[in-house]
Amino acid sequence: MDDLKYGVRDKRGDWKPNGRIEAVPLWNWPPRLPKILAWLPGYIWPWNAFHMATALLYWFYIVPSVETMKTLSWGWALWLYAVNAAAILVFYGIFELRYYVRRAQATRFKYNHKFPADAPSDVFWFQSQNLDNFLRSFFITIPLWTVVEVIFLWCFAKGYVPWVGWQDHPVYLAALVLVAPAIHEVHFFFIHRLIHWGPLYRWIHSVHHNSINPSPWSSLSMHPVEGFLYHAVAFWHLLIPSNPIVALFQLHVASFGAVNGHLGFEKLELTQDTAVSSHAYAHYLHHKYFEVNYGGDGLIPLDRWFGTLHDGTREGDAMMDARFQKKKQRMNARA
Ligand SMILES: [Zn+2]
Ligand SMILES: [Zn+2]
Repeated sequence: MDDLKYGVRDKRGDWKPNGRIEAVPLWNWPPRLPKILAWLPGYIWPWNAFHMATALLYWFYIVPSVETMKTLSWGWALWLYAVNAAAILVFYGIFELRYYVRRAQATRFKYNHKFPADAPSDVFWFQSQNLDNFLRSFFITIPLWTVVEVIFLWCFAKGYVPWVGWQDHPVYLAALVLVAPAIHEVHFFFIHRLIHWGPLYRWIHSVHHNSINPSPWSSLSMHPVEGFLYHAVAFWHLLIPSNPIVALFQLHVASFGAVNGHLGFEKLELTQDTAVSSHAYAHYLHHKYFEVNYGGDGLIPLDRWFGTLHDGTREGDAMMDARFQKKKQRMNARA
């Protein structure tokens, strides 16, 4: 595909999309139904449908029986860890292999023209972003994701929290599924904003930000505190009446869905003229500029409301610069 029909490439070779990052049409006033209906399929397909499919596969084929889960034990916890790790190895691995190892579409639609494998750096274990990110994901973050999973499944199995049945309240649960990605956005925005506070940033979040040019393995490369808080989004389903399948979906939006922001490409070419949108640009800009776009790309436009949005345009650059200038002045005034 010709990526210059969709964006521009600068002298260095970095590509950026035309247009701007906008809030989804739900936030337009007055609401326009045709626009909302046009947005809806892309909301469901392919990413959220995929997360639902994996949640169902887990529930019916992976998650142990309720009887088993009434007792906490290493057996089923390690089983879940093994499946989570294998699933991420395959799912993230497909993107890594096709777009970063084989470089099937070279740098078409790629925000940063460089590939992490070509840029060794001392900030990473073994000077390798790939190895560092991979090891942190599999030996720190995925175990913590599994801890969250074991805790909420055990709470449901023990009857500590309400278990809403699909037969009894199908409409309520379907609505909860549709809202889950929004819960994710809000949860992520606030924990993310919190760990950008100086001392917490240096202690916790700087680990994730070592990857200025993120790639699939960067997605879950986190400090343990962040790895736990990030996946703890599923605990909301212990507070609101819910169902373990919806909680699993919520968890998978976080774990499998983390790859979206770190794909590094705007579009992933599937064939000569079909491609799937990554929704990666807002979070790519976050990795590039640090103090913009703490949330996602506009499902809940929290960055717009808090004045931290970079919409990917020149005006976005100007707004960010003005904000950084103000911050500098404040810091100087204090010093
Ligand atoms: Zn990130
Ligand atoms: Zn951050």
